[in-house]
Amino acid sequence: MRPDRTFRSLNHLNPLTMNRKRAWAEPYKIKMVEPIFMSTREEREKYIAEAGYNTFLLKSRNVYIDLLTDSGTSAMSQSQWAELMKGDEAYAGSEDFYHLEEAVRKYYGYQYVIPTHQGRAAEHIISQILIKKGDFVPGNMYFTTTRLHQELAGGTFVDVIIDEAHDPDSTYPFKGNVNLEKLENLIIEKGADKIPYICIATTVNMAGGQPISLRNLKAVRELAWKYGIRIVHDMTRVAENAFMIQQKEEGYQDKSIARIVREICDLTDIATMSAKKDALVNIGGFLAVNDYDIYEEGRNLVVVYEGLHTYGGMAGRDMGALAIGIKESVSDIHIHARVGQVLYLGNQLLEAGIPIVNPIGTHGVFLNARKFLPHVPQDYFPAQALAAELYVDSGVRAMERGIVSAGRNKKTGAHNYPRLELVRLTIPRRVYTQSHMDVVADSVKYVFENRESINGLEMVYEPKYLRFFQARFKKVVPVTPQKMQNPEEKEPVVHAH
Ligand SMILES: *Cc1c(COP(=O)(O)O)cnc(C)c1O
Repeated sequence: MRPDRTFRSLNHLNPLTMNRKRAWAEPYKIKMVEPIFMSTREEREKYIAEAGYNTFLLKSRNVYIDLLTDSGTSAMSQSQWAELMKGDEAYAGSEDFYHLEEAVRKYYGYQYVIPTHQGRAAEHIISQILIKKGDFVPGNMYFTTTRLHQELAGGTFVDVIIDEAHDPDSTYPFKGNVNLEKLENLIIEKGADKIPYICIATTVNMAGGQPISLRNLKAVRELAWKYGIRIVHDMTRVAENAFMIQQKEEGYQDKSIARIVREICDLTDIATMSAKKDALVNIGGFLAVNDYDIYEEGRNLVVVYEGLHTYGGMAGRDMGALAIGIKESVSDIHIHARVGQVLYLGNQLLEAGIPIVNPIGTHGVFLNARKFLPHVPQDYFPAQALAAELYVDSGVRAMERGIVSAGRNKKTGAHNYPRLELVRLTIPRRVYTQSHMDVVADSVKYVFENRESINGLEMVYEPKYLRFFQARFKKVVPVTPQKMQNPEEKEPVVHAH
């Protein structure tokens, strides 16, 4: 596959490169260094076996380049660090709460904000407020914690994303779009009173960091108005989504990221935010709403689960750093460098013929484990096995997004078999340089050349909730093809119930 060169460069903003092509570098310099540990292959083989072949169970000190997640792994700026020292740790009415509220109003446009310790706490609160038993919640693909909170509140998640999102080879630019027909059919079939809200994620994490277009979001808004249904915005990566709109959607080329972000938010009623992603802090999140009655209920519930409504689950200093992170996250220079680094890695892999999800997403590069390891059946967890092998090869830590993450069917107890079986190489914001990306690309290429040696894994321990975090595996002994078709012959899985 050819590299994606459709992205506009930022050259017009850089006095050096305005008139001719020059080398690119990160728009920051390093003030404090954090040494990273380099291990031998033998050591890594031991570490991954001890971790049950689950990269979530590795110790970070044994990781060389950590691409497990972009969640809470950002490097804060000097302004954010300075703000930490000024934190107002008053139990009630902290100065930093008001800074945060001001930033949310200014950059996202939502009126009321309830700080939470991270995104899932906001999801919990809004699910408890809006969902009744027997309700249906349509969304542009599930996210693990989002769906779980919807289900715990008695609802059923319904995927209404376009079919292209489930096809890793489709190069459709807005794979986060909602299939409007699916959405309207669901509303007609179940009745609008059974649908407490439509959940819209920017960008869609589980589809590979794929954006929704403003055109599609506007159409969803029209439908929502028509049936009197709210839109809850999972705004975890809204600035990255705005970048893709600026790059690829007709009519937005000359609009700033800040302006596009605001336009997205203005089309929705409520937002849940994991500030650990886009907003450049290590911990934090919030629930933001425009409706005063819902705010009132949220303020009540947050006291039960998190803390008083002017700090929720956050320290004052962390709210201060978040207020600044929000501002920095919508800067054009920042977001072009951030997503640019992801594209830099993705394009190297495309050039080498490695099967990855297309188009390259905003927060990471997703290896297509089905194509990478066509000889490993899905019952043998190909993406999990590939992530383990990548770690052994180079100390690069990635994570599985496939059958392990998809969990089991609530009714039958069988595995959910997602079409996407992926390994996510997630890039932390402002942490690594292009040289680190070169090391990663080199390792993926090596593992690809030697892929025949990967046989897959068997699950030997399975937690009840969000099993991908803590499940344990062992290597399968190479088996004959005939035996592979008989998964019943495997050792029984130990369920933790
Ligand atoms: C991370 C994430 C969440 C949950 O947020 P946490 O801060 O991890 O609790 C929700 N939705 C999406 C799309 C996410 O990526």
